[in-house]
Amino acid sequence: GPLLALRAVGKSFSNGVTALSDVNLTIREGDFVSFLGPSGCGKSTALRIIAGLTTPTTGTIDWPRRTGEQASVGFVFQEPTLLPWASVFDNVWLPLRLKGVSRSEAAPAVAKMLERVHLTGFEKAVPRELSGGMRMRVSIARALVTRPRLLLMDEPFAALDEITRFKLNNDLLELWQEERFTVVFVTHSVFESVFLSNRIVVMAARPGRVFEEVAVDAAYPRD
Ligand code: ADP
Ligand code: ADP
Repeated sequence: GPLLALRAVGKSFSNGVTALSDVNLTIREGDFVSFLGPSGCGKSTALRIIAGLTTPTTGTIDWPRRTGEQASVGFVFQEPTLLPWASVFDNVWLPLRLKGVSRSEAAPAVAKMLERVHLTGFEKAVPRELSGGMRMRVSIARALVTRPRLLLMDEPFAALDEITRFKLNNDLLELWQEERFTVVFVTHSVFESVFLSNRIVVMAARPGRVFEEVAVDAAYPRD
């Protein structure tokens, strides 16, 4: 069923820029949706509105199942924003810690997530000892450790080299196929949107509107 719906959502900033205009969009549970479009078409703004980080100027967001659903959202940015002095374990523990879960109580969930992102054995490393791809894996583990129903990703792999990016795409797809959380993934890569998602929301610039929605699973079956 539907997880959330944007209804006639618009966003204009105080500098006069209209980032989004009359966006109508339903995201279903278990979807892997890509927002695809050129730079400046409003992808990040739409994601930030879904995350509750930005308030829309017009329109509404409906969470049909229950209220307060924003608490169950994980966010992955292009810059992993890890605590630089804290270990991999402590970085992934953080969201649980903020909910009052102790280190020892959190340990099984942290270990499981680190295994999921192929970082078992790196618990004690600090971010600067890791490659960019590994830091991104830590960031994904941190976003998923609380088991959010919705994972929001804003061009997460754009700063990584092509090979690392390809590996992360594969691993993210595998993770999603196994766990079936809902994903909204912002990208300007056609390859990424087709490879990863089952729905592509193509956005057009000036002003930010949904140009077309494409169902990928029908055209591109995967095993
Ligand atoms: P508002 O109060 O309209 O929601 P913000 O407080 O989010 O706007 O942003 C205030 C100012 O930040 C803008 O007027 C702009 O000068 C600047 N700004 C922040 N991010 C951007 C961006 N991506 N593009 C252009 N300007 C930006
Ligand atoms: P995208 O993610 O597709 O690159 P954004 O959602 O970041 O697009 O931005 C859409 C438009 O809104 C751009 O023209 C951008 O400069 C502008 N913008 C984004 N954030 C702000 C802000 N805080 N203040 C003013 N303008 C902004």
